[in-house]
Amino acid sequence: MRCLWCGHPDDKVVDSRSADGGASVRRRRECLRCGRRFTTFERVEEVSLSVVKRDGSKEPFDRSKVAAGLIKAIKNRAVTDKQVSQLVERVEEKLRRKGPVVTTQEVGLEVLTLLRRLDDVAYLRFASVYKDFQALTHFERELGILLQKREPVRQAGDRQGRRVPRARAKR
Ligand SMILES: [Zn+2]
Repeated sequence: MRCLWCGHPDDKVVDSRSADGGASVRRRRECLRCGRRFTTFERVEEVSLSVVKRDGSKEPFDRSKVAAGLIKAIKNRAVTDKQVSQLVERVEEKLRRKGPVVTTQEVGLEVLTLLRRLDDVAYLRFASVYKDFQALTHFERELGILLQKREPVRQAGDRQGRRVPRARAKR
């Protein structure tokens, strides 16, 4: 399994448990190069998940692509590694339920839905670079919704942003 963070192909499984009443296995993995952890969610009968791009071409779902976009969006924000990998995991779970074929737009919207609860700035960054979301009217509408909902500035975490309460991410 390629590392979400650095793309290294080797990892060790640090925890493994069944999920969905035994229909799938959740594995906690640790990258052998960067040491960061991520979770994979494997169906006993792994059903392929494909993503249809805007130009009509189809490619296998790649969680590291989702992670790469996300990692860019959270730069210098108080979002932890754990929150990122959980978000990627949840997006994949949701898409697999919709699958076996989803569109890039669906992938992006799933990310945005979860990211909005996590960090406003990261959400806007992701939204602004997300190609299928660039229709300006749509983006402005999203921005409007966000500004209305805006809460007072939350307390920042420490420099690595590791101590931010996860309350908002849990909803
Ligand atoms: Zn790594």
